[in-house]
Parts: sequence; C-alpha cells; structure tokens
Amino acid sequence: MNGLMMDWPLLVPSILYRAGRIYPEKAIISRHADGTIHRMNYGELEVRVHRLMNALRSLGIRPGDRVATLAWNSHRHLELYFAVPSMGAVLHTINFRLARDQLKYIINHAEDRVVFVDRSVAPLAAALREDIPGVEQFIVMDDRCPGPSALPEPAIDYEDLLAGASERAEFPRLDENMAAGMCYTSATTGEPKGVVYSHRSTYLHAMAGCLADAGALSEREIALPAVPMFHVNAWGMPYSCAMTGATQVFPGSGLIGQPLAELLESQRVTCAAGVPTIWTLLYQHLKEKTYDLSSLHTLLVGGSAAPRWMLERFERDFGIRVLHAWGMTETSPVGTFSRLRSEMLAWSEERQIEYRLKQGIPIAGVETRILGDGGEDLPWDGEHVGELAVRGPWIASSYYNNPEAGAAFTPDGWFRTGDMASIDRYGYVQLTDRKKDLIKRKGEWISSVDMENAVSCHPGIAEAAVVARPDPVCDELPAVLVVRRAGVEPPVEPQDVIDSLAPKFARWQLPLPEDVHFVESLPRTGVGKIDKKVLRQLVAGLSKPPGG
Ligand code: ADP
Repeated sequence: MNGLMMDWPLLVPSILYRAGRIYPEKAIISRHADGTIHRMNYGELEVRVHRLMNALRSLGIRPGDRVATLAWNSHRHLELYFAVPSMGAVLHTINFRLARDQLKYIINHAEDRVVFVDRSVAPLAAALREDIPGVEQFIVMDDRCPGPSALPEPAIDYEDLLAGASERAEFPRLDENMAAGMCYTSATTGEPKGVVYSHRSTYLHAMAGCLADAGALSEREIALPAVPMFHVNAWGMPYSCAMTGATQVFPGSGLIGQPLAELLESQRVTCAAGVPTIWTLLYQHLKEKTYDLSSLHTLLVGGSAAPRWMLERFERDFGIRVLHAWGMTETSPVGTFSRLRSEMLAWSEERQIEYRLKQGIPIAGVETRILGDGGEDLPWDGEHVGELAVRGPWIASSYYNNPEAGAAFTPDGWFRTGDMASIDRYGYVQLTDRKKDLIKRKGEWISSVDMENAVSCHPGIAEAAVVARPDPVCDELPAVLVVRRAGVEPPVEPQDVIDSLAPKFARWQLPLPEDVHFVESLPRTGVGKIDKKVLRQLVAGLSKPPGG
C-alpha cells in the first residue's frame, strides 16, 4: 500500500546523534579506581566517539568484526558502547569474573580481534594472552588503579589512540538488523552461550527503558548503573539515559558499600540499578554511617528475586523505593517490571508488597506464556506454575554459532526461559524458581525462592539460600544455608529457622534440622548472584556419611 511511513532504521548512532544535538551540556560522570571524579558531557562524548571510530578503523576494524571489553563502568566504556556499533562492528562486553577457561572459550568463540581492557583488569588479560592468540591488539584504559599492572602484549594506551585520530568520522549506512553488541550467558551448565543484539533490538529496548511503567528514565534523572556494563549492557541503562539526556554516573569498580554510598550522595543520584547483593551491602553500610541520600528515589533490582526485607526496609529506613524487574541475557535483558496498577494503590500494604515482590508485567513489546509439561498453555490464575516463555523484538531467536543449544527456541517462535512461573489475571509474572533450582521431594516440587524469601524475613538472618540436597529416600530435600545477622542475640538456631517457615509451608516441605547450615557468607557468581551450583556441591558434600 502506498502513503506509508518512512522506512527509517532504528540505529544505535541515532541515539548518540540526538544526545549530542539536544543535550550537549548534560553530564557524564565517572569515578576512577583512586576515587577521583571525571566529568564530561554528551557534546564531548560525541566528539570522542568520532575519534574512537577513526581509531578503530586505523586498527583495521571493519563492519562485523568483534571488539571486546574487559572493563568496569566508565565514560570510556560508554564511548565504546557507541563507537563500535556506529561503525558497524560488534561490541562484545565480557564478564571478566568468569572462570579462566570460560573467558578463553568466550574470546575465541566470538573471535574478538581487539580487546579494550581497564588497567585494573589488565593482569588478567596478560595471564590469558597465550590462550587467546586471535586477539591482535589490546588497548589499555587507565582507570587509575593504584600500583603497576602487568600488561598484555601488544598494548597501547586508549588516550594515545584517541589523540592520534581525527575528530570527524564517517558514519556508514547500517541496516537495523545488523549486529550491534553481544554478550555470553554465564552458563551454569555447559559452555557459555552467545547472544547477539541488533541495532533494532538495542534501540527498542532502550526506548522501553524510558516508558513510565517500566524504567521511567527521563531527562530529569541522574542515573547510576551499579550493574556492571558487562552484565547485559548494564540492563540497557546507558542507552536509555543517552536517549533521554539523563545524567549518567559511572561508579567504576566502586560498587560495594562505602564508595557507592559516597557517589550516590555526592552526585545527587536519583535512581540506580543493581542485583540484590549490591543493595544488601549498601543497606548494611547505610546502617553504619549516615549519608544524605534525599535525592535517591528508586533502586531498581533484578537478576535475582528481590527479598521482601529489601523493599520494606529501604523504604522504612531511608524513604527509597525498591522497584523489581526481571530479565535475562537472552531478553536484552529487561522483560517485566513490577509497578502497581492504579487500583492496587487502594489495597492493603501487605497485598501491595506481595505484588511488588512479583517479577511484574511484560513491557509493551514483550509477550508471555506459561507452558505445562506437554507444552500446553496454562491458565493465568496465579496458581498454575509452568515454564515461562517469551517473545518480542528484543528477545533472542538463537544462540551465536551454537545450533546444539537451540532447544530453548520453539519452532513457533517463542523462547523458553527455563524459569518456572505463574501469571495472574492482571498479567503479573511470579517466578517460583529456575527449573533447575526447584527441589523435587518424592515427585512433589518445593520452591527454593519461596523458602529463601520466608527465611530472609527473620530478623536474626542477614541472608539465606535454599538448594536441593540429594537423598536416597526422598530424592531431594531442601537444605538451607544461613548467614546470621551480626549482633543479634541470641543467635538464630536451626529450630528457629524451621519454626519461622512452619506457618508458610506444609510439614513435608520443611527442612530437617541437620539441613540448616550456618555459613559466614554465600558464594557469588561473576555478576553477584548467589551461586547455587557451588552450594549444591557444598551441601552434597556436607551430607555424605563420615568417610563416604
Ligand atoms: P546468569 O544467571 O546465567 O548470569 P542471566 O543474568 O541472564 O544469566 O540471568 C537470568 C536469570 O536470572 C533468569 O532466567 C532468572 O532465573 C533470574 N532472574 C532475573 N531477574 C530475576 C528476578 N527479578 N527474580 C528472580 N529471578 C530473576
């Protein structure tokens, strides 16, 4: 039909172009490893991106090539977020906290040609050097970490590279379905799997982050991604912020407690995003030391289930709203947000909290289903639990060069997430567990997430995790690992944990006293989630008979 709209592509460079034109003076602030602050603005960002594009070309980078980063959150990483896709190359952000074998696999599998590395991370790149022969050049970004660093060969300095490049770059004509970025899942089983984001998916996901009922990023915000820029593009925040001209604050490696609290205070940050661990550590620090965080209205939490205490206590103690969202590497990542609908505002506080603890409703553009064992659709009644399946313009349709890992993508165009969930009549998704984390006792399921939430509400408990322990009679039983809250007297004992669960769980679901373990801390994955794989091994070892 004629008379149609323009066929205008959705491209990453147009986000930058707009930011440079409309918001040239808005700030981009980064904290170096030595605590000093670097300030620039979107106008300067644009010029430096032009230079970086020319510099990348001088290194021989061509459209389609992979350019990798081993880096914390900083303005230089942001420059790469724009320069690499704008020249048609693919930005591969790497989670450098993965195991060495995984890093080697990822870099070789992606065929990264050059690697941009923070000086604080450079010793890791130097140690990997022999295993990644395909990398032609390392570019070191000086994040002012104290002391000397071993550098990988051959290495050049980022600022030297930029200084030698001209400040007017040609922008090639790009197709919106070309690759812009890629990220590997952290793979709890098998090798990591690559997910490739297109210009179109990146643009639409960034826009979704600005929707009022989703991330609500706008020009008025001063936003801080406390989620690393290697963790699914810092959940799209840098792109959403540039799209709206929001001020961006990058914490570098200072994601824990004091440096984060100082930055939130000094830069008058209004919203920040991170996994529950980051906010747990921040909360503990804020209880020890007073800060003026009156500017901060929202902490976005995702990546793992938000614990109930987090929503309640941040609000009660500091007047900060905790907003819960769900996503995955395969979903760019954000798929759902848990904001209350208007009629829910009249509900009791208890019911409101119950809803805010759900993972939320799909953002416009994302569609959800829950599937039974035979692949049939289950009703949206908040009761039936099945595997969550999603589709939409920023959901992966396959893994990069890995056809064997394709089982999650159904022939009719859905992605099976591996998360078990119910959906209620309002469309709120509630995760009960990851499929592989559910505990199966004599054929009946126990949700580890429900049990963790219940245990963590105990005032004497700082953190808890629940995993399956193999049992010859029951197949699996729940094992609870508990970190006691410091200074609470008398200290929590196994029976206290079981008593606190008793009102919420059937008797057969309750853990045995010998399955409640007290630990100093819980092991974390590279992105700061509780590492259940390690815990499963731990409890399997703990339950072995002596000498067995
Ligand atoms: P990995 O955990 O392998 O690093 P992702 O970062 O992609 O990979 O993690 C995605 C998974 O994290 C989801 O499938 C889900 O199990 C879990 N997850 C993400 N957000 C939430 C949330 N809000 N509540 C509970 N689980 C979540």
